[in-house]
Amino acid sequence: MSGSGDDGGRGPESAPSGARNLPAGVTITCRSILPLQGPPLERGWLRIGRGRIEGIGHRRPSGPVIDLGDAIILPGLINAHTHLEFSDLTAPLPAGSNLTDWIEEVVRLRRARLPGAAEQTRLATALSAGLQESAAAGVTALGEIATAVPAQGYPPHGPRVRLYREGLGWRPTATFQSLVARDLNHLRHALGGLSPHAPYSVSAGLGGWLVRTAVAGHLPVAMHLAESRAEAEFVATGGGPFQNLLAGLGVWPVSPAPRLHSAADWISQLARAPRGSVVHGTFLDETALNRLIRHRDRLCLVVCPRTTLRLAGALPPLGHWRQAGIRLAVGTDSRASNPDLSILAECRTLVEAGMMSPAEALRTATRGGAWALMLEHRCGQLAVGRPADFIVLQAPPGHADPHVAALDPATRVVATVRGGRLIFGDLASRGSTAGSWQSASQ
Ligand SMILES: [Zn+2]
Repeated sequence: MSGSGDDGGRGPESAPSGARNLPAGVTITCRSILPLQGPPLERGWLRIGRGRIEGIGHRRPSGPVIDLGDAIILPGLINAHTHLEFSDLTAPLPAGSNLTDWIEEVVRLRRARLPGAAEQTRLATALSAGLQESAAAGVTALGEIATAVPAQGYPPHGPRVRLYREGLGWRPTATFQSLVARDLNHLRHALGGLSPHAPYSVSAGLGGWLVRTAVAGHLPVAMHLAESRAEAEFVATGGGPFQNLLAGLGVWPVSPAPRLHSAADWISQLARAPRGSVVHGTFLDETALNRLIRHRDRLCLVVCPRTTLRLAGALPPLGHWRQAGIRLAVGTDSRASNPDLSILAECRTLVEAGMMSPAEALRTATRGGAWALMLEHRCGQLAVGRPADFIVLQAPPGHADPHVAALDPATRVVATVRGGRLIFGDLASRGSTAGSWQSASQ
């Protein structure tokens, strides 16, 4: 099976074609470098070669240096959960009064799309728009949920993609299994993963097959869990808002009735895979949370703050989770529930709610995301030998703390670099705004 885990290799980093290489052996300096595995490096420097970080420090480096003035450099942001198929939406779908209203809108939208060439074209356009928007937002890797792999694959000149092939339904039919196997074998420029959709939409049998496939291929898994209180009610009793939703969509009741897992039982299932993301988890009960704590060496929680605020009316209990030692990552979810794909905006939401410090939010959005995507040996921090995945930010003046500056609403992403190549922005043009874009000998 192709597209498995992180190779963690040390050879030349394969950079996205179509992007622009940074000059060979270039050293960059600026006001602050945030490696996010130690204190900020004031007037630090970063040396890039063969797509990887060759050196990092805070004393004056040897050789030619490119000075980016008062910019801030940090690891590329990681969007641990999104659905790029909705990236062509200009506004989120109506949320109604609860999650099931919104899901109904999503299903209506999907059913209105006619299969065939026109939908393939739309999908390709949406994926391309989502990847470009992500790169412009400083994202160098993302966890993409997809019900199918597009025929043309994912373009190579964008963020790294961990593609979780999603499954919904009640029976793991031979047709379904062959489609999933085909998709995982046709990943181009993406790494694989698997995703049972949610406890109210996936039977124990179908989800179990997806998890076993992940285990066999050493692939990570991701699953929406406890996104609403009504989910547990449906799993336990077969009633409530999800029963109404599924009956209205004509997919419930099913005979014979499929076996459904609780969130706690799904956590036990997901923990069999080498890595797993529990997405949302806002309403995990005590049993589920204790099970997640038990499996925190393999599972993390991915929070999508703005989507959760919009669809659940409150942010998840992050303080409780962090005290329990559960790893966290940040996602945007999709443009069907969020106005954009900005991870910095998600971090700001957590900081403004008093749930994290700016430094914690940035670590969650970089190191946390890398771990969630099973890419922790490849990205998420600035360290010698790692691929050169980083972003350059221009913040407004007046902030003493570079972490606070990075999350100022007026801060903009100047450049996004993946594997030593620009996938967004243009460092050379910074000379007009911040000066000092000159190669200068020591
Ligand atoms: Zn989602």
